Amino acid sequence: NSDLQLQYQISKFGEGDRLLVARDITRLLRLEQTRQDFVANASHELRTPLTVIRGYLETFLDQELPRPLQRGMEQMQQQARRMEGLVTDLLLLSRLEASQHISDEHPILIQDLIQHMHQDAVALASGRGHSFQLDVDSEYDLLGQATELQSAFSNLVFNAVRYTPDNGTISLRWWVDHKGGHFSVSDDGIGIEAMHIPRLTERFYRIDESRSSASGGTGLGLAIVKHVLVRHSAHLSIDSKPGKGSTFTCHFPPDMVVPIRAVGSDAG
Ligand code: ADP
Repeated sequence: NSDLQLQYQISKFGEGDRLLVARDITRLLRLEQTRQDFVANASHELRTPLTVIRGYLETFLDQELPRPLQRGMEQMQQQARRMEGLVTDLLLLSRLEASQHISDEHPILIQDLIQHMHQDAVALASGRGHSFQLDVDSEYDLLGQATELQSAFSNLVFNAVRYTPDNGTISLRWWVDHKGGHFSVSDDGIGIEAMHIPRLTERFYRIDESRSSASGGTGLGLAIVKHVLVRHSAHLSIDSKPGKGSTFTCHFPPDMVVPIRAVGSDAG
């Protein structure tokens, strides 16, 4: 049967003897595929009605409305936006889950990407007094899929903004060493208790549901980060202390890092 999917495990026993166990995981994989297809289809189908609802709400909110009606409509608009964010994140996550590796990789111009993210983060944090620090190695670029990496990095930067009380400090770093390339986002915000850290990249895992929702979170940000990194043979490390702050670091293997050729440095 060509559709049969087997998982093999070899264990040692006795004097040099080996035991080979083959497990039939065909049904398990089929179930997982059905789950992924369902989430992708449901998210896609939800998108159109949501766009229509939001469009009408915007038109109504442009008119003079009695106060209570206006307040109700604004609430609906806020919730419709939240749902749209959720649908976008669910669709992205299903696309990421569909394959384990990126199909093509290019230099992503990480210095520009960090500059743009910095500007977006400043806009998001507007009026909250956060300061940002950038420490970016300008000699090396990262190979990868630019849109995916941008989503992953933005999720980390936006989380830092959202989980740091006013007047906080947020640092973005990109550096290269013998282990590869590293991108980190540090904040001096609320921090995370150690027991939560291993579960943070699970879908919809939140420490404080109300804080996450109030600040516009979908509960899918770190799951997206994890999947993007897996597809780039990279991984995430989280270092945090409650009340002190957190550092989220993406570690990329050395073969994903490329030197940037100095342009025009020897001209003339
Ligand atoms: P959410 O949309 O809820 O932020 P994420 O997957 O991005 O979902 O994050 C999961 C949870 O991890 C958050 O609900 C929050 O409790 C915690 N978290 C993420 N980033 C930070 C951070 N920088 N500081 C403190 N807690 C964080």
